[in-house]
Amino acid sequence: MAGLPDQLIDKFGRRIDYIRLSVTDRCDFRCVYCMTEDMKFLPRSQVLSLEELEQVARAFVELGVKKIRITGGEPMVRNNIMALLREIGSFPQLQELLLTTNGAQLTRYAKPLREAGVSRINISIDSLRPDRFERISRVGKLDRVIAGIDASIAAGFERIRLNSVIMKGYNEDEVLDLVEFAMDRDVDIAFIEEMPLGRPSDHEREETLCTNDWVREVIEQRYPLIPTASRTAGPSKYWQLNGRANRIGFISPVSHNFCADCNRVRVTVEGRLLLCLGNEHSVDLRAILRDPARSFQDLKQAIVDAMDIKPERHYFYDEDYAQPVRLMNMTGG
Ligand code: SAM
Ligand code: SF4
Repeated sequence: MAGLPDQLIDKFGRRIDYIRLSVTDRCDFRCVYCMTEDMKFLPRSQVLSLEELEQVARAFVELGVKKIRITGGEPMVRNNIMALLREIGSFPQLQELLLTTNGAQLTRYAKPLREAGVSRINISIDSLRPDRFERISRVGKLDRVIAGIDASIAAGFERIRLNSVIMKGYNEDEVLDLVEFAMDRDVDIAFIEEMPLGRPSDHEREETLCTNDWVREVIEQRYPLIPTASRTAGPSKYWQLNGRANRIGFISPVSHNFCADCNRVRVTVEGRLLLCLGNEHSVDLRAILRDPARSFQDLKQAIVDAMDIKPERHYFYDEDYAQPVRLMNMTGG
């Protein structure tokens, strides 16, 4: 097959050089905004094997992808995840291997992750009160996550970022505490608006949504924020507190549309190449991977072709928004 490009460009001229690769839909937590209480998980046969995941990552990297974020579900519950990370971490063309995790296993894995080539990690933490943390995650233990954050700092990770979803009735009074927790440890923190992906079982999302404009106002009442020049392509906008090196990010997919800068696609653990978080446009890469008549080149060609159906934008809460039924753990957050 001749003429495969060495970079991925969609039909709106956006260069796609970042993928988020989900390695499991399972998790040791059950966060209220991400999963329902009685989640059913995929049978093993539908889940990509480690070898298939590695092939997908390799195909994207050969097509010019520079950054891969490993996510889930909770990536650290996938069997032999370290072997996959080591493999992907050794691709010479890859500039950054990133991981998003709930932090519960980082006391054990922070150092090995760094050794495997993971360059940066995001750790989710929505509350600093043990009882609330348990209510939001349904099962998680706050002290383990805090120990995991500290282990990651001790392991020498740079630019660690905490992720917090602020929700009315759950944790909206903890914005400043979370900012101060991040300042104390000199790590970044990003506030992520709760996205309407799938139906949660414990609340209506429209009632719990706290926009980031509101979160920012709360912070600015105590700490004036200075905009930074550091805007990576994509959704995060970063600010700084006077005299501090760490940054505060706002990811506002609901209240501010950032699709014009979109540089990413997602691959679910079923091998579905999802071209947009808020739309169902996708391509079944697993079917290609498992078809003996099709080659690695076919896989790459399918990825190139998929760029033509990447939607221009998402339409969260617009009048005719068709909410995807998939929850975030199936999407690859
Ligand atoms: N288990 C890992 C974790 O919690 O960081 C990685 C996967 S999780 C799906 C990735 C991120 O998505 C987390 O920061 C989580 O808070 C966020 N998330 C999950 N569901 C969400 C939703 N409906 N809206 C906004 N963020 C969500
Ligand atoms: Fe698990 Fe992460 Fe979803 Fe929480 S947000 S249930 S930790 S996958």
